[in-house]
Amino acid sequence: MALKSTSDKGLQTLSIHGGETPDPNTGASVPSLVMSSTFVVDEEVSFSANNLSSETPFVYTRWDNPTTQQLEHKLAILEQAAAGIAFASGMAASAAVLLAHLSQGDHLVISNTNYPGTAEFARDTLTRLGIDVTPVDSSELANIENAMRDNTRMVWLETPSNPLLRISDIEGAAGIAHAGNALLVVDATFGSPIATRPLTLGADLVVHSLTKYIGGHGDAMGGSVCGPQALIGPLRGEALVHYGGVISPFNAWLIMRGMATLPLRMRCHEANALAVARFLEDHDQVEAVLYPGLESHPQHALARRQMDNFSGMVSFRCANPKQLAARMMQQLEVIHYAVSLGHHRSLVYLMQTEDLIGSSYRLEGAELEKYRAAAGEGVFRLSIGLEDSADLINDLRAVLD
Ligand SMILES: *Cc1c(COP(=O)(O)O)cnc(C)c1O
Repeated sequence: MALKSTSDKGLQTLSIHGGETPDPNTGASVPSLVMSSTFVVDEEVSFSANNLSSETPFVYTRWDNPTTQQLEHKLAILEQAAAGIAFASGMAASAAVLLAHLSQGDHLVISNTNYPGTAEFARDTLTRLGIDVTPVDSSELANIENAMRDNTRMVWLETPSNPLLRISDIEGAAGIAHAGNALLVVDATFGSPIATRPLTLGADLVVHSLTKYIGGHGDAMGGSVCGPQALIGPLRGEALVHYGGVISPFNAWLIMRGMATLPLRMRCHEANALAVARFLEDHDQVEAVLYPGLESHPQHALARRQMDNFSGMVSFRCANPKQLAARMMQQLEVIHYAVSLGHHRSLVYLMQTEDLIGSSYRLEGAELEKYRAAAGEGVFRLSIGLEDSADLINDLRAVLD
């Protein structure tokens, strides 16, 4: 038993049933966890990953695995993609896309504030390999347009972006990228497929850290890329098999279990985040609150257009952030002072401006001024979880008052 068609089903049904099949041998309703690294074959199978095809049986888990394959199908269904591929982490997925789809002499245009791992990989590793990189504030389409060159092969957006929750217009960026014969890649980790499905807006590939909302419980790392078979196939042959960032089938199984409740969780993340954002906006110690679901967000209109859910990420700024961070580490009762995001538990972390500018973003001139104007000395990045919103507000009130 498996879904006969997916196009007529809703996201809740697809999150639960999409890609899954009961075990043909036992009838088990829950997907089977296959930890085997190797598989017994009854015919000769080429030992080279270059000869992989959709007809190849399971051979070795670094190539493909029955549990991981169900996760990949579920991800592709939620993203309305022809194909999906899972990796050991979000960074393994991002590195796979950047290395497998760019070559020496190519040019990449990328959001100038985003996940620090991606920012540093682009600025250091890609440039060392002879790829030109232009970071731009991608929340203004004109900046992408002005950065395009004859050799631009990829535009990479992160939306909403870390940590200022800037929104980039996917449809507009797709038009610019495609006019220049470049791929548009979107890291949509901060919103999840419940908020935005970038492929339906013209993106060529969508990247997720499964460690965040999609897994949702802070207990399994993973990453994914979804898109057309012509772009995903090379990622399996080159990136997964040769770079080797393969997800553990156990993590794939945990992430699949988490995905069953993704639409429900995202509704609760959004409702809690809105309640916390409104509380923070009214608090006299808080200088600014950034949340795409607030009317005060500079791109609220675009967020409304592009997002079906405003997600649970809220950033805010106040005076003396280091003192407040120290109080949070000592006094928070419910919210954990920890990095990462998208878990059922609420998390908070101070993203210090000097740190991010110095090590990750390396902004200068007007872009640096713009970042400082929004972030001050730093912003607290809150990943609002699924607890009672009143308890989250009381926890924050106790350290702010
Ligand atoms: C966490 C994150 C990543 C990296 O994912 P890992 O699973 O930690 O490797 C990439 N992009 C964004 C937006 C993230 O939040």
